Amino acid sequence: LEPKEEFDHSSLAVDVMRPRRGDPALAVLTQDGMTVGEVETVVESTHYSGFPVVVSQESQRLVGFVLRRDLLISIDNARKRQEGIVSASQVVFTEHTPPQPPEGPPPLRLRGIMDLSPFTVTDHTPMDITVDIFRKLGLRQCLVTHNGRLLGIITKKDILKHMAQISNRDPDSILFN
Ligand code: ADP
Repeated sequence: LEPKEEFDHSSLAVDVMRPRRGDPALAVLTQDGMTVGEVETVVESTHYSGFPVVVSQESQRLVGFVLRRDLLISIDNARKRQEGIVSASQVVFTEHTPPQPPEGPPPLRLRGIMDLSPFTVTDHTPMDITVDIFRKLGLRQCLVTHNGRLLGIITKKDILKHMAQISNRDPDSILFN
């Protein structure tokens, strides 16, 4: 992402993040209450590289971030090797396992594959600052919040596309250093 001066200083994180108005909602997982089958459906019905984990759909409070790859590998492994893991098993990202239905299958604990401190910016963070953070920390994506509620996601590619749009250039010609 250089030279920095080329960046439109008036852009804010909210202008670059996805989803855009009219896009499908951000695909998130909840920290508990979802089954293995439901998680698989979310992952398999999209191509996103990762999914924010939230406390609940209602609160949209961010708990962490899981990579698609890690989710698929862990679920696949658990189905093959972990006794009792089936589609109806609860997926648990919390520290303590919530009470399970007495007759139900055992839960699948996935806290270990979650990034507990994904990088976030607020919706009104200027994009030149966000770009700086991406560059300095080598981020692949960053989450966007407003008053503690998760609003969206910005990937490295989203930034490159946005910059290309502003400068009317081919996104591939603008490289991260
Ligand atoms: P990339 O931007 O490198 O292709 P992704 O495949 O993860 O990375 O994302 C593709 C697009 O979808 C990007 O515009 C990104 O902002 C958006 N996106 C990424 N993850 C999610 C998600 N969980 N829910 C909704 N949109 C997402």
